[in-house]
Amino acid sequence: MSDSLQARLEVTEERIRLACRKAGYDRTKVTLLAVTKGQSSETISHAHHLNLNEFGENRVQELLSKNSSLAKEKIFPKWHFLGHLQKNKVKDIVGTVDILHTLDSTDLVTILHKRRKYLKDQGEIPTSASPMQCFIQVNVTEENHKSGVRLNNFDQLLETARKSDELSIVGLMVMAPYDKDANKSRPLFSKIRRLAELNELPQLSMGMSQDFEIAIEEGATIIRLGTTLFGER
Ligand SMILES: *Cc1c(COP(=O)(O)O)cnc(C)c1O
Repeated sequence: MSDSLQARLEVTEERIRLACRKAGYDRTKVTLLAVTKGQSSETISHAHHLNLNEFGENRVQELLSKNSSLAKEKIFPKWHFLGHLQKNKVKDIVGTVDILHTLDSTDLVTILHKRRKYLKDQGEIPTSASPMQCFIQVNVTEENHKSGVRLNNFDQLLETARKSDELSIVGLMVMAPYDKDANKSRPLFSKIRRLAELNELPQLSMGMSQDFEIAIEEGATIIRLGTTLFGER
């Protein structure tokens, strides 16, 4: 089991390297985010010993419980939140989550901003702490069930978010619909890259197990991999 994680990591690393070379990018341009939803704290601890230190979760309670287990082992990873963030859960994640990939509404901006200010007033976050890094999740396919901001609300969200000194909008995040043919994700990725460039946003969180090589070719700076590292959930 543990050996298989190491083997999968090596294979994945080689695929990332090849995709970077093909696209003419330096390997250091792309961050590998290990998506650990459904995986145990033991697995995360093992991944940590294989030099992975950035983990993504999509449920608040699951993230918090793994965070406490790992803290007991003196493991303090960089946590990324990837799920839809409900407003009433904001209070639970600020201070623990380092990077939010799913900012998708102006209400969320307001609540995150207030919570950070409050925790600073309480002395729970140092006043000198840098702003919370956020990606705006974009819903390009306009499917109702998908989270993310619709394109027609994007400009307003970005403008509002940029006014908050508690948040730093670092880039855009997108999820491509599943398709056996990863090339089908390419137009979506390239559209998101152009939107990011237009708005001078340096980072792109895109690419999952199904399509990360295409995402790298289209400019991803952070790929989010679960299955390809840990096996089927
Ligand atoms: C689960 C998940 C991933 C990883 O998916 P895999 O197909 O297992 O690589 C990436 N991003 C988000 C937002 C997820 O929820």
